[in-house]
Amino acid sequence: MLEGKVAIITGGTRGIGFETSKLFAKNKANVILLGSREETVNKALEDLKKEGISNVEGYYPNLNNYEEIENLFSSIKENYGHIDILINNAGISASKPIEDTTVEEFDRIMSLNVNAMFYTTKAVVPFLKENNGGVILNTSSMVSIYGQPSGVGYPASKFAVNGFTKSLARELGKYNIRVNAVAPGVTNTDMVSNLPKEVIEPLLKTIPLGRIGEPIDVANAFLYLASDMASYVTGNILSVDGAARS
Ligand code: NAD
Repeated sequence: MLEGKVAIITGGTRGIGFETSKLFAKNKANVILLGSREETVNKALEDLKKEGISNVEGYYPNLNNYEEIENLFSSIKENYGHIDILINNAGISASKPIEDTTVEEFDRIMSLNVNAMFYTTKAVVPFLKENNGGVILNTSSMVSIYGQPSGVGYPASKFAVNGFTKSLARELGKYNIRVNAVAPGVTNTDMVSNLPKEVIEPLLKTIPLGRIGEPIDVANAFLYLASDMASYVTGNILSVDGAARS
Protein backbone atom coordinates (compact mmCIF):
# COMPACT_ATOMS: atom_id res chain seq x y z
CA MET A 1 0.00 0.00 0.00
CA LEU A 2 2.98 2.35 0.41
CA GLU A 3 5.31 1.25 -2.37
CA GLY A 4 8.00 3.85 -3.05
CA LYS A 5 7.01 6.11 -0.15
CA VAL A 6 9.51 7.40 2.40
CA ALA A 7 8.11 7.50 5.94
CA ILE A 8 9.67 8.99 9.08
CA ILE A 9 8.25 7.58 12.33
CA THR A 10 9.18 9.05 15.72
CA GLY A 11 9.13 6.75 18.75
CA GLY A 12 9.68 3.86 16.34
CA THR A 13 11.77 1.67 18.63
CA ARG A 14 8.99 -0.04 20.54
CA GLY A 15 5.25 -0.27 21.11
CA ILE A 16 2.96 1.39 18.60
CA GLY A 17 5.78 3.06 16.66
CA PHE A 18 7.73 -0.17 16.24
CA GLU A 19 4.65 -2.06 15.01
CA THR A 20 3.85 0.78 12.61
CA SER A 21 7.43 0.84 11.30
CA LYS A 22 7.23 -2.91 10.67
CA LEU A 23 3.83 -2.70 8.95
CA PHE A 24 4.89 0.22 6.76
CA ALA A 25 8.09 -1.60 5.75
CA LYS A 26 6.07 -4.73 4.91
CA ASN A 27 3.93 -2.49 2.72
CA LYS A 28 7.10 -1.48 0.87
CA ALA A 29 7.71 1.98 2.30
CA ASN A 30 11.28 3.00 3.08
CA VAL A 31 11.03 3.60 6.81
CA ILE A 32 13.21 5.87 8.93
CA LEU A 33 12.47 5.13 12.54
CA LEU A 34 13.56 7.55 15.25
CA GLY A 35 14.22 6.68 18.88
CA SER A 36 15.74 8.37 21.88
CA ARG A 37 18.91 6.26 22.24
CA GLU A 38 21.43 4.49 20.00
CA GLU A 39 20.99 1.13 21.81
CA THR A 40 17.21 1.05 21.43
CA VAL A 41 17.38 2.14 17.79
CA ASN A 42 19.94 -0.60 17.04
CA LYS A 43 17.86 -3.20 18.86
CA ALA A 44 14.74 -2.25 16.88
CA LEU A 45 16.66 -2.51 13.60
CA GLU A 46 18.11 -5.91 14.63
CA ASP A 47 14.65 -7.21 15.58
CA LEU A 48 13.28 -6.13 12.20
CA LYS A 49 16.21 -7.70 10.39
CA LYS A 50 15.52 -11.01 12.18
CA GLU A 51 12.06 -10.88 10.60
CA GLY A 52 13.62 -10.33 7.18
CA ILE A 53 12.84 -6.59 7.05
CA SER A 54 15.73 -4.46 5.81
CA ASN A 55 14.10 -1.40 4.20
CA VAL A 56 14.33 0.45 7.53
CA GLU A 57 17.02 2.67 9.00
CA GLY A 58 17.13 4.45 12.32
CA TYR A 59 18.42 7.59 14.05
CA TYR A 60 18.25 9.10 17.52
CA PRO A 61 18.07 12.88 17.18
CA ASN A 62 17.11 15.08 20.12
CA LEU A 63 13.50 15.80 19.18
CA ASN A 64 13.64 19.00 21.20
CA ASN A 65 16.43 20.42 19.07
CA TYR A 66 14.96 21.95 15.92
CA GLU A 67 18.31 22.36 14.18
CA GLU A 68 19.19 18.68 14.69
CA ILE A 69 15.85 17.63 13.20
CA GLU A 70 16.18 19.98 10.25
CA ASN A 71 19.66 18.63 9.46
CA LEU A 72 18.54 15.01 9.75
CA PHE A 73 15.48 15.54 7.52
CA SER A 74 17.62 17.33 4.91
CA SER A 75 20.01 14.38 4.78
CA ILE A 76 17.08 11.92 4.51
CA LYS A 77 15.67 13.96 1.63
CA GLU A 78 19.11 13.98 -0.03
CA ASN A 79 19.46 10.18 0.31
CA TYR A 80 15.99 9.20 -0.87
CA GLY A 81 15.08 12.17 -3.08
CA HIS A 82 11.78 12.74 -1.27
CA ILE A 83 9.94 12.43 2.05
CA ASP A 84 6.25 11.50 1.88
CA ILE A 85 4.98 10.62 5.34
CA LEU A 86 5.73 11.81 8.88
CA ILE A 87 4.29 10.09 11.93
CA ASN A 88 4.64 12.00 15.19
CA ASN A 89 4.31 9.12 17.59
CA ALA A 90 6.95 9.58 20.33
CA GLY A 91 5.23 10.41 23.57
CA ILE A 92 5.34 10.06 27.33
CA SER A 93 2.44 9.86 29.74
CA ALA A 94 1.69 10.98 33.29
CA SER A 95 -0.52 9.75 36.10
CA LYS A 96 0.34 11.78 39.23
CA PRO A 97 -2.09 14.22 40.88
CA ILE A 98 -1.40 17.87 40.12
CA GLU A 99 0.14 18.70 43.51
CA ASP A 100 2.71 15.91 43.08
CA THR A 101 3.58 16.85 39.50
CA THR A 102 6.70 18.98 39.30
CA VAL A 103 7.06 21.89 36.91
CA GLU A 104 9.87 19.94 35.21
CA GLU A 105 7.63 16.88 34.70
CA PHE A 106 4.88 19.00 33.15
CA ASP A 107 7.42 20.74 30.88
CA ARG A 108 8.91 17.38 29.84
CA ILE A 109 5.55 16.09 28.65
CA MET A 110 4.69 19.23 26.73
CA SER A 111 8.21 19.37 25.23
CA LEU A 112 7.99 15.89 23.74
CA ASN A 113 4.27 15.44 23.06
CA VAL A 114 3.67 18.95 21.69
CA ASN A 115 6.82 20.97 20.96
CA ALA A 116 8.69 18.10 19.25
CA MET A 117 5.61 17.44 17.07
CA PHE A 118 5.77 21.08 15.97
CA TYR A 119 9.53 20.87 15.24
CA THR A 120 9.37 17.71 13.13
CA THR A 121 6.28 18.92 11.28
CA LYS A 122 7.79 22.35 10.57
CA ALA A 123 10.91 20.62 9.24
CA VAL A 124 9.01 18.23 6.95
CA VAL A 125 6.43 20.58 5.43
CA PRO A 126 8.79 22.18 2.85
CA PHE A 127 9.67 18.70 1.54
CA LEU A 128 6.02 17.65 1.30
CA LYS A 129 5.20 20.86 -0.56
CA GLU A 130 8.03 20.10 -3.00
CA ASN A 131 6.37 16.71 -3.72
CA ASN A 132 2.99 18.41 -4.24
CA GLY A 133 1.57 16.46 -1.35
CA GLY A 134 2.15 14.20 1.60
CA VAL A 135 0.80 12.89 4.85
CA ILE A 136 1.33 13.97 8.46
CA LEU A 137 -0.06 11.69 11.16
CA ASN A 138 -0.03 12.28 14.90
CA THR A 139 -0.59 9.97 17.82
CA SER A 140 -3.29 11.38 20.02
CA SER A 141 -5.12 9.39 22.71
CA MET A 142 -8.59 8.56 23.95
CA VAL A 143 -7.83 10.93 26.85
CA SER A 144 -7.90 13.79 24.32
CA ILE A 145 -11.68 13.64 24.41
CA TYR A 146 -12.65 13.69 28.10
CA GLY A 147 -9.33 13.98 29.94
CA GLN A 148 -8.28 11.59 32.71
CA PRO A 149 -8.67 11.68 36.49
CA SER A 150 -4.97 12.19 37.26
CA GLY A 151 -1.83 13.25 35.35
CA VAL A 152 -3.25 16.37 33.74
CA GLY A 153 -0.21 17.09 31.58
CA TYR A 154 -0.84 14.04 29.41
CA PRO A 155 -4.42 14.79 28.30
CA ALA A 156 -3.50 18.48 28.02
CA SER A 157 -0.76 17.52 25.56
CA LYS A 158 -3.10 15.28 23.57
CA PHE A 159 -5.82 17.96 23.36
CA ALA A 160 -3.02 20.06 21.83
CA VAL A 161 -2.24 17.25 19.37
CA ASN A 162 -5.88 17.30 18.21
CA GLY A 163 -5.91 21.08 17.81
CA PHE A 164 -2.63 20.98 15.90
CA THR A 165 -3.99 18.23 13.63
CA LYS A 166 -7.30 19.90 12.83
CA SER A 167 -5.76 23.32 12.26
CA LEU A 168 -2.88 22.15 10.09
CA ALA A 169 -5.24 20.09 7.95
CA ARG A 170 -6.99 23.36 7.16
CA GLU A 171 -3.74 25.22 6.55
CA LEU A 172 -2.08 22.59 4.38
CA GLY A 173 -5.02 21.16 2.42
CA LYS A 174 -4.30 23.46 -0.51
CA TYR A 175 -0.89 21.79 -0.87
CA ASN A 176 -2.45 18.32 -0.96
CA ILE A 177 -0.95 17.57 2.45
CA ARG A 178 -3.31 15.52 4.62
CA VAL A 179 -3.06 15.77 8.40
CA ASN A 180 -4.81 13.27 10.67
CA ALA A 181 -4.38 11.73 14.10
CA VAL A 182 -5.09 8.33 15.57
CA ALA A 183 -6.45 8.31 19.12
CA PRO A 184 -5.63 4.91 20.65
CA GLY A 185 -7.41 3.59 23.69
CA VAL A 186 -5.56 1.49 26.25
CA THR A 187 -2.94 -0.31 24.15
CA ASN A 188 -0.66 -3.14 25.15
CA THR A 189 2.77 -1.40 25.26
CA ASP A 190 5.42 -0.46 27.85
CA MET A 191 3.54 2.81 28.42
CA VAL A 192 0.58 0.89 29.79
CA SER A 193 2.58 -1.67 31.76
CA ASN A 194 4.00 1.32 33.70
CA LEU A 195 0.58 2.66 34.67
CA PRO A 196 -0.78 1.86 38.13
CA LYS A 197 -3.61 -0.67 38.45
CA GLU A 198 -5.95 2.05 39.74
CA VAL A 199 -5.72 3.79 36.37
CA ILE A 200 -5.97 0.67 34.16
CA GLU A 201 -8.75 -1.31 35.85
CA PRO A 202 -11.50 1.31 35.68
CA LEU A 203 -10.53 1.94 32.05
CA LEU A 204 -10.84 -1.76 31.16
CA LYS A 205 -14.42 -1.82 32.41
CA THR A 206 -15.35 0.91 29.92
CA ILE A 207 -14.26 -1.00 26.79
CA PRO A 208 -17.26 -2.43 24.88
CA LEU A 209 -14.99 -4.66 22.76
CA GLY A 210 -13.86 -6.29 26.00
CA ARG A 211 -10.09 -6.14 25.52
CA ILE A 212 -7.27 -3.64 25.43
CA GLY A 213 -5.84 -2.72 22.04
CA GLU A 214 -2.74 -4.25 20.48
CA PRO A 215 -0.09 -2.10 18.76
CA ILE A 216 -1.09 -3.65 15.41
CA ASP A 217 -4.64 -2.26 15.84
CA VAL A 218 -3.16 1.24 15.87
CA ALA A 219 -0.57 0.49 13.15
CA ASN A 220 -3.40 -0.64 10.82
CA ALA A 221 -5.16 2.70 11.32
CA PHE A 222 -1.93 4.55 10.48
CA LEU A 223 -1.49 2.42 7.36
CA TYR A 224 -4.98 3.30 6.14
CA LEU A 225 -4.51 7.02 6.84
CA ALA A 226 -1.07 7.09 5.18
CA SER A 227 -2.29 5.30 2.07
CA ASP A 228 -4.23 6.56 -0.93
CA MET A 229 -7.28 4.74 0.47
CA ALA A 230 -7.64 7.81 2.71
CA SER A 231 -7.08 10.31 -0.11
CA TYR A 232 -10.10 12.43 0.90
CA VAL A 233 -9.61 12.12 4.66
CA THR A 234 -7.97 15.00 6.49
CA GLY A 235 -8.40 16.85 9.79
CA ASN A 236 -9.69 13.70 11.47
CA ILE A 237 -8.99 12.19 14.86
CA LEU A 238 -9.60 8.46 14.32
CA SER A 239 -10.42 6.65 17.56
CA VAL A 240 -8.96 3.15 17.83
CA ASP A 241 -10.21 2.33 21.30
CA GLY A 242 -12.85 -0.40 21.22
CA ALA A 243 -15.42 2.40 21.76
CA ALA A 244 -13.99 3.20 25.23
CA ARG A 245 -14.48 6.92 25.06
CA SER A 246 -15.29 8.08 28.55
P1 NAD B 1 6.15 3.29 24.43
O1 NAD B 1 6.53 3.84 25.74
O2 NAD B 1 6.15 1.81 24.20
O3 NAD B 1 7.00 3.96 23.26
C1 NAD B 1 7.30 5.33 23.28
C2 NAD B 1 8.24 5.67 22.15
O4 NAD B 1 8.56 7.06 22.30
C3 NAD B 1 9.53 4.89 22.19
O5 NAD B 1 9.89 4.50 20.88
C4 NAD B 1 10.55 5.90 22.73
O6 NAD B 1 11.84 5.75 22.14
C5 NAD B 1 9.96 7.23 22.28
N1 NAD B 1 10.38 8.28 23.20
C6 NAD B 1 10.10 8.38 24.53
N2 NAD B 1 10.71 9.45 25.03
C7 NAD B 1 11.40 10.04 24.01
C8 NAD B 1 12.21 11.18 23.89
N3 NAD B 1 12.47 11.97 24.93
N4 NAD B 1 12.75 11.47 22.67
C9 NAD B 1 12.49 10.70 21.61
N5 NAD B 1 11.71 9.61 21.65
C10 NAD B 1 11.18 9.29 22.84
O7 NAD B 1 4.72 3.90 24.18
P2 NAD B 1 3.52 3.61 23.17
O8 NAD B 1 2.39 3.15 23.99
O9 NAD B 1 3.95 2.85 21.98
O10 NAD B 1 3.20 5.13 22.79
C11 NAD B 1 3.33 5.67 21.50
C12 NAD B 1 2.35 6.82 21.39
O11 NAD B 1 1.02 6.33 21.60
C13 NAD B 1 2.55 7.93 22.41
O12 NAD B 1 2.40 9.18 21.80
C14 NAD B 1 1.43 7.70 23.40
O13 NAD B 1 1.05 8.89 24.05
C15 NAD B 1 0.35 7.17 22.50
N6 NAD B 1 -0.69 6.40 23.16
C16 NAD B 1 -0.43 5.23 23.79
C17 NAD B 1 -1.45 4.56 24.41
C18 NAD B 1 -1.24 3.26 25.12
O14 NAD B 1 -2.18 2.81 25.82
N7 NAD B 1 -0.11 2.62 24.99
C19 NAD B 1 -2.76 5.07 24.40
C20 NAD B 1 -2.99 6.27 23.75
C21 NAD B 1 -1.96 6.92 23.14
